[in-house]
Amino acid sequence: MSSTGENKGYVHALETFGLVDGPGVRFVVFLSGCKMRCKFCHNPDTWNKKGELWEAEALYKHMRRYKSYWKNNGGITISGGEPLLQMDFVTAVFEAAKKENIHTAVDTAGQPFCEDKEWLEKFEKLAAVTDLFILDLKMMDSDGHKELTGVDNGNILAMAKWLSDHGKKMWIRHVLVPGITDEEDDLKKMKEFIGSLKTVEKTEILPYHTLGTIKWKELGLSYPLEGVPVPTEKQIEKAELLLGLSFDKQIRRVVSAVREQS
Ligand code: SF4
Repeated sequence: MSSTGENKGYVHALETFGLVDGPGVRFVVFLSGCKMRCKFCHNPDTWNKKGELWEAEALYKHMRRYKSYWKNNGGITISGGEPLLQMDFVTAVFEAAKKENIHTAVDTAGQPFCEDKEWLEKFEKLAAVTDLFILDLKMMDSDGHKELTGVDNGNILAMAKWLSDHGKKMWIRHVLVPGITDEEDDLKKMKEFIGSLKTVEKTEILPYHTLGTIKWKELGLSYPLEGVPVPTEKQIEKAELLLGLSFDKQIRRVVSAVREQS
């Protein structure tokens, strides 16, 4: 049982050989449940908390069979859906991993973050056993963010600041959707915000893709970004420039290809 309580979690999918969600080779766990409704979401089938119910120690035991792949700072990543909605479970899995000094990462959109004392105490316990937070920043303009995702970005930005103030390493990710999340002013503000954080190791642009649209249809949902094109190489380069990034084109193509397969 974890030091925080809940020992079971709803798992949507497992990926044994992840190459993009943290350093090295990763075992990636996708939990179900998310309260955001991003219009570009390519996993709407993770929104409801359902799926296989795993016990934390059993899940870790299953993952550690792949331990020989985790050299050079590889390890385990828990993604979603939104993993912070099952925070006690994630903490329990990571507590087991840290006993063996395995690198741990959470891939989160940060929406559940709040300053409530009880919530924050649990989050501190999670942070204590998490080596890396991979945080999605969708947009800086709060109204635009609400329009795009269904929620404003106040607690997401607050979480980034909390992680920075508490010395927790972060990778920031931004999904680039043409005409929506590539606005010049917004990207400049994002650069400024990221620059104000002390613990960001890496910032990445994830070019929007349409591979998830089929899932929306399967769920009987109409896809809100119908007709929105994927960004061109030029648009990606412009956004990289505005965010102050330099990214080798060839590496970007490899990363995009791996991501699209996952
Ligand atoms: S936060 Fe992630 S899982 Fe949730 S709606 Fe947005 S893209 Fe989908």
